[in-house]
Amino acid sequence: MPGIPDSFLDDLLARTDFIDLVSGYVKLTQRGNTAKGLCPFHSERTPSFSVSADKQMYYCFGCNKGGGAINFIMEIENLPFHDAVAFLARRAGMTVPDSGETRESVSRRNRMLELNRDAARFYNDMLSKSGGAAALNYMRNRRISPKYAKIFGLGAAPNEWTALSDAMRAKGYTWNELYDAGLAKRGKSDKGGGYDTFRDRLMFPVIDVRGSVIGFSGRALGDDAAKYINSPDTAVYSKSRNLFALNLAKKSKAGRLILVEGNIDVVALHQAGIDCAVASLGTALTVEQAQLMKRFTENVVLCYDGDEAGQRASKRAIGILEPAGLDVRVLRLDGAKDPDEYIVKFGADAFLNLMDRSEAHIEYRLADILKQHDVTTSDGRIAYLKSAVELLAAVRSPAEREVYGRNVAETANVSYDTIEIELKRAFASRRRREAAKETREEQQPLRAMQPTQRSMRYSNEASASAEMGVLRCVMSDPETIKIARESGLSEDEFTAPWLGRAFSAVCAADDTGTRLSVPALTARFEPGEASELARVLTAPFDASEAHRAMRDYIEKIRDERVRHSGDIADALRAAKKNKQRKAQ
Ligand code: ATP
Ligand code: MN
Repeated sequence: MPGIPDSFLDDLLARTDFIDLVSGYVKLTQRGNTAKGLCPFHSERTPSFSVSADKQMYYCFGCNKGGGAINFIMEIENLPFHDAVAFLARRAGMTVPDSGETRESVSRRNRMLELNRDAARFYNDMLSKSGGAAALNYMRNRRISPKYAKIFGLGAAPNEWTALSDAMRAKGYTWNELYDAGLAKRGKSDKGGGYDTFRDRLMFPVIDVRGSVIGFSGRALGDDAAKYINSPDTAVYSKSRNLFALNLAKKSKAGRLILVEGNIDVVALHQAGIDCAVASLGTALTVEQAQLMKRFTENVVLCYDGDEAGQRASKRAIGILEPAGLDVRVLRLDGAKDPDEYIVKFGADAFLNLMDRSEAHIEYRLADILKQHDVTTSDGRIAYLKSAVELLAAVRSPAEREVYGRNVAETANVSYDTIEIELKRAFASRRRREAAKETREEQQPLRAMQPTQRSMRYSNEASASAEMGVLRCVMSDPETIKIARESGLSEDEFTAPWLGRAFSAVCAADDTGTRLSVPALTARFEPGEASELARVLTAPFDASEAHRAMRDYIEKIRDERVRHSGDIADALRAAKKNKQRKAQ
């Protein structure tokens, strides 16, 4: 990677305890030299995410993502290369050597974070000034106390075109920095000036789990057509990977998270002493957000608005939370449209009471199925039983299956024996399907050599497989680099460009007398390529055979070239190289 010397990356990786790093995000169970866990990058129930302590690499057999410490941090923290390096360096107590690129990228992000913090302070200060009177008044009407306004860092965007921009520019930030952060918008005239994104709104800063202000939501103070305006995704803000108030809720002792829809609901719940409430950031819940929650708890209580849209969103959210391995309960609000209104009407104790009675999502879904059928008719009963049994077949615990099964039987007014057989059959068939799928997934890396990313498909599988062999050789026994060099093997003989580039990188490091480690190598590649390299380089390999294997692989690459080349001169050249080698 330009800018950062190999020696520094190697040092950094050597000083990073990889298992410890990954353990901060994934619960791992160690088995000898490899550890396994549920993949943080996709939803799964059986662990296919494996981490090698030896190789300091991870690979997921389910979603085929893999790499070393730098790739891991880039992926999970959503950081570009240089920032991931800076992140790991800070963690290891090292200073990244002065490289223009690192400094620029990291400082651009840091500067945006500083701007966000200054903006949050500006909005917050505004609450005690005349420009914030309307927002303060709105806050009072919504019963948000000054104490909680402070805890959440709430603020006011005054009803002016450039109040924030002027204040920030006076602090030395440029218009471009304001645009990049999503705090201002470009004006129509080309005088260079713009205007504030947020005007006449109650401001909610979005703060990530590390305590940085990464974005904002602004609620209209009246019946504005746009009830909320949210920051766009920026270099420091990704709506799909963060949750509102997780910075506070992560400290809760409740042992669960309550997911609600609105920012106001979150504030109301915290204020009522329910400090584990979070909300998604104005978009539908994402798999990344589910994974994020899973870093803090296994229990999620869904409490979306009672209207039809809220109930639809709730069903969707179950479909994301449940497969992520979270235990989901659903809280139904009766007599109020949202948690905020519920607390205003009935008080915090009533809400806590509701929470204790929140339904496991199975009950919730059974009730939903019941609503769709008329069990007073025979047809309706049969259809109800069919859907209910199908749903119950997904329940893993036999005790729970039976308890719910008995309820269903009672509801449909049939004996439990009748549905027990059906339920057993449906459960067994479901288990078989799942088991087959898991075996398929586990065998996938052996069976399907092709990378999942279409653009990376190998044009010549036989050659690519030999090219992988070459890489496995040079990474496990540096002596074999000599053999490759003596044979004149070069990057352009590789049919898979990234394998060729990897080979070149190893040779270039060898030129300077350094030996690239696998995680240092994969750090230089795009996520898809890094994953593919991780798969190739973490596969078991018998290093004692490396010398002989290297010769065979080179020969194979050239044979394949002869076989497939449409260009006669090219084919002859490859054939000649091979003959020379054999004669040696
Ligand atoms: P209130 O209680 O006043 O209705 P709320 O905070 O509960 O406010 P909801 O209308 O329930 O807001 O909306 C839920 C969330 O969806 C909001 O907190 C906000 O993040 C997002 N949202 C709502 N309306 C919009 C909009 N027009 N544009 C973008 N995001 C929105
Ligand atoms: Mn609401």
